[in-house]
Amino acid sequence: MSAAEEFTVSAAEVSAAFTALYGYEPAGVWAAPGRVNLIGEYTDFNEGFVMPLALPHTAVAAVARRDDGILRVHSADVAGPVVELAVDALTPLSDGGWAAYPAGVVWALRDAGHAVGGADVHLASTVPTGAGLSSSAALEVVTALALDELYELDLTRRELALVAQRAENAFVGVPCGVMDQMASAACEAGHVLHLDCRDLSVRQVPFDLAGEGLVLLVVDTRVKHALGDGAYAERRAGCEAGARALGVTHLRDVPFAELPSALDRLPDIDDERVRRYVRHVVSDDHRVERVMALLDAGDVRGIGPVLSEGHVSLRDDLRISCAELDLVVEASCGAGALGARMTGGGFGGSAVVLAEAADADAVTKSVREAFAGAGFAAPRVFPAVASAGAGRV
Ligand code: ADP
Ligand code: MG
Repeated sequence: MSAAEEFTVSAAEVSAAFTALYGYEPAGVWAAPGRVNLIGEYTDFNEGFVMPLALPHTAVAAVARRDDGILRVHSADVAGPVVELAVDALTPLSDGGWAAYPAGVVWALRDAGHAVGGADVHLASTVPTGAGLSSSAALEVVTALALDELYELDLTRRELALVAQRAENAFVGVPCGVMDQMASAACEAGHVLHLDCRDLSVRQVPFDLAGEGLVLLVVDTRVKHALGDGAYAERRAGCEAGARALGVTHLRDVPFAELPSALDRLPDIDDERVRRYVRHVVSDDHRVERVMALLDAGDVRGIGPVLSEGHVSLRDDLRISCAELDLVVEASCGAGALGARMTGGGFGGSAVVLAEAADADAVTKSVREAFAGAGFAAPRVFPAVASAGAGRV
């Protein structure tokens, strides 16, 4: 079984489940992947750079259009009945549970003026939830793409991502940047996506790890610390304060070469945190550009130390790491990995580890043993094969 097969729910299965549930066949089946971010953390809302890749794990949805204004959604992964909603009564932030993600997409499309009536949706997903791998974006993007095709909206990938982000921001109520949705909508197999979060311009950067004898492991720590609640908003506010103090609209506008002088100009801010956040964001933007240059030059191994540097910045300057994530980095690099960093929002979730393919088992073993030794729950480890973005299956 290939990595892709192992992490994908079969379209036939989801289609058959739709038919069993609703009593007729779906109009089609669509899939959208989760993602893992290689480098560029907390840079998206600073209008900077990020570099995610799509995972082989996908949300798969069987969907049919219905024109009576009724939306029915069901997930194979959630115990519970079909959720039925009237599309013209959809209300943001109404705490609709998981159904808020697909319902939010219908709301966002209609709010943008698209004539979307109802739909029947049945979905199943292999994207781990709450692990920092964007199961939520996969859900949104698969819904958006299905409705785009069924209602012939002809939206671009970027428009789909923005609709999905709006659903999450304004309907579900999670203030995320646009990276997750852009990754799920626009990634290509065998590539990492260089995304400029200012204008959403993208560049597909070849990322052939297998050809280089390398592997990128995702280590899902399976923990989520409560400390993370509110931390995102606090970091975001701190970054905005830093930008204001430096006289720029976003920290993206502070060139890396000017970071020392920018930090010198900050002491007026009676707040050491802001200095650290500025240093993280400006240096992580620079790390994205360094990784892209290394990949362009064919020096894939060279990105290892840049990833590890990124971890130190997230741990010490942004302070969003935790003992489990630090242990992944320490144990994997101690066992010969080329580099490692936490990825995603922090305080748990996942880390990425770049290693020689020949060392993958030893690195995995070392991480597992370190976790057992520390009394942590066993992590989930799998290779991140750069996979395709959303599509009809
Ligand atoms: P992440 O995106 O990092 O996985 P989030 O907290 O943003 O974590 O999104 C997770 C939420 O998305 C879940 O709590 C659930 O509401 C929804 N979700 C994700 N996958 C599914 C699924 N297969 N079925 C139903 N809801 C899902
Ligand atoms: Mg999410």
